[in-house]
Formats: sequence, structure tokens, C-alpha cells
Amino acid sequence: MENQELLARAIEKWGIEAQQKQVIEECSELITAILHRQRGKCTDADVVTEIADVSIMCEQMKLIYGARRVDAEIQRKLNRLKERLGYVVEADDTTHSGHLHVEISIMQKGGEQ
Ligand SMILES: [Mg+2]
Repeated sequence: MENQELLARAIEKWGIEAQQKQVIEECSELITAILHRQRGKCTDADVVTEIADVSIMCEQMKLIYGARRVDAEIQRKLNRLKERLGYVVEADDTTHSGHLHVEISIMQKGGEQ
């Protein structure tokens, strides 16, 4: 079972509302872990665990709200960051998110068979 399918099953089992509450809880735990790390009250590994939890929950939020929409918004914000850091944003950076690029690659492979 692929990760995306596993995450979709979790949403099906517990429901959208429960998973939205869970992402809030996991974000809170990450915030707390970072604050504790700054005070030397926990380890890097503790923070890494909470980053993993938040990442897993964010992947579920992408399935709920639309992975393509989220990926497009991530790319838009990365382009904005790139500009703020003084780099030139190329046209290709604005038209292809990583997600879409993968889909296009898969489609091209399928067409070759
Ligand atoms: Mg956690």
C-alpha cells in the first residue's frame, strides 16, 4: 500500500473533522517541542518526531483540500521567497509544481508503452 492510499484510509476511518483536530494537536506538539528544545528540555530527536507527525497530518490535509492546489500554492510561495532572496524566477518555476511534473512524467511513460 502506498503512503497516499494509507493516508486516505486514515481519513476514511476517522473522518475529516477528527483529522483536522489531529493536525491542530500535532502542530501544538511541534510548537511545544521547539520551545522545549530552545530551553534544553528535549532533544533534536523529539523535535524530529513532531516534525514527522505534522508532515503526515499535512499530507492528509492535502488530500482533503486538494494536493494540486496546495502544491501550486507552495510553488507560488517558493517563487516569492526566491524573488525576496534576489533570485530570478523562471517561467518554468511558475507553471510546474513537483506534483504535476511527476504526473506528466507518468503520463509520458504510459504513452510510450
Ligand atoms: Mg506528535
